[in-house]
Order: sequence, then structure tokens, then C-alpha cells
Amino acid sequence: MPARTTAIPQLNSAQRLRALYETLAAAYGPQHWWPSQSPLETIVGACLTQGTAWTAVERSLSNLRQRNLLRFDALRALPIAELRSLIRPSGFMQRKAATLHALLDLIHHEYGGSIERFARVPLPTARAQLLAISGIGPETADAILLYALNQPAMVVDEYLRRVALRHGLAPAHAGYATLQQLALSAFADEQNPAALADHCNEFHALIVQIGKDHCRRTPDCAHCPLRADLDTHLHGRPVSC
Ligand code: SF4
Repeated sequence: MPARTTAIPQLNSAQRLRALYETLAAAYGPQHWWPSQSPLETIVGACLTQGTAWTAVERSLSNLRQRNLLRFDALRALPIAELRSLIRPSGFMQRKAATLHALLDLIHHEYGGSIERFARVPLPTARAQLLAISGIGPETADAILLYALNQPAMVVDEYLRRVALRHGLAPAHAGYATLQQLALSAFADEQNPAALADHCNEFHALIVQIGKDHCRRTPDCAHCPLRADLDTHLHGRPVSC
């Protein structure tokens, strides 16, 4: 008589991603992102962090804070040469200063300098306005929408790409929009935009954490909380990437 086996439920990719999210939330707890003291500081940090370690961004933010410049009108009035000098630790200061100035101009001209008013604009409109600014790509736009404006925008980064590919949840050629839709599919049952924004907030923060702790260039699957998904669906072997 053949041995009885326990049936493993076959989950679709959305269900698996939701399960991965809940596993990470249980392992790490609330992440309390974004690490800033105001929406303006979040916007500045999102513009500065492109291609740069967060420790370097913190030095730039500290320069601005010491001069009491993390106020909308004060920052916008700052001559761009001084802005470049203060954000030098973040690198690429020419481009980043120009991008930040253009973004502050947008909020000034379209929303009277009120980030709160910008946050009330429908997400597709705000996203299109952000993407129209030179130097703001999809990841930065979504980070601003999510963490400064509290909109339900899912941020896609290299860590999410790596986890999705290694777990066989996305093909190697998946682009930003495909990965974003995949991640959002985990929360398709959430009808409340504020609650969805909370999930997007935690999801991205948790993915960054697992990327730093385990899903590095050389994956540390043996000690990773997401190992069970690999064991169940890929027999313990991550797809190489
Ligand atoms: S380290 Fe391994 S188990 Fe963890 S997320 Fe990456 S591929 Fe998955």
C-alpha cells in the first residue's frame, strides 16, 4: 500500500506573494518606513538616494537640517549652487539638485507649495507629473507617491526583482510595470486605498530587508525566512539570476 502523502496546496503567484509578505511581516514586524521627519524630507531623500547608499543621503539631509533648510519655501529659495554643495555627499549633485528644484517648482506652481494638496491629486495624475521631471524614473516616482504622499503606489526595486525571479514568480525579462502588477496582485482583495498604501509601504520595506539580510548577489537561502516557498515550489533551488 503506497505511503500517504500530505497534499501541498497549489497557490498562484498572487497567493504566493501574499504568503511571502505575511511570512516576512511575521519574521521582521512593522518596518516604520520611510525614515524621515516630514513629507518634504521624504521627497528630498527619494531624489537623493538614486544610485547612492542611504548613509550618504543622511549626510546630505543632515547638511540641510543644520541650515534649517528642510522647509519648502526655504529649500526652493536656496540658490542651486548652494543646494549642490550641501547635497554633495549623495553624489551626482548637478543632476540631483536640478531634479529637486524642478520638483519643488512643480509643487509650487501647481499646488501653491502644499505637499498636502499634491497628495490629494489622483495617483495617475500625480505619477505622470513626477515622471515628466528629468531625473525622476518609476522607482523614485513611486517612492514619492507612497512614502511622501501616502498613495497606494508599489515600489519596484532590484531586491523585488531578485526575489521574484529567484522564486520563479516572474520571467527574467520582466519590466518595471510587470513586476509592479505582480506585487500589487498580492493585495487585489484590498479595496481601501489607505489600507492598500499601508500594505505597499510594508511590502517594499520588508523586501529591502530580506534583500539586505539574505537575498544578496549570492543568496543565503539556508537561513532565509522565505526558504519554505522555495522548498515547496522549486524543490529548494532558487532560479539562478
Ligand atoms: S535568499 Fe533564497 S529563500 Fe531567501 S528570498 Fe532569496 S532566493 Fe528566496
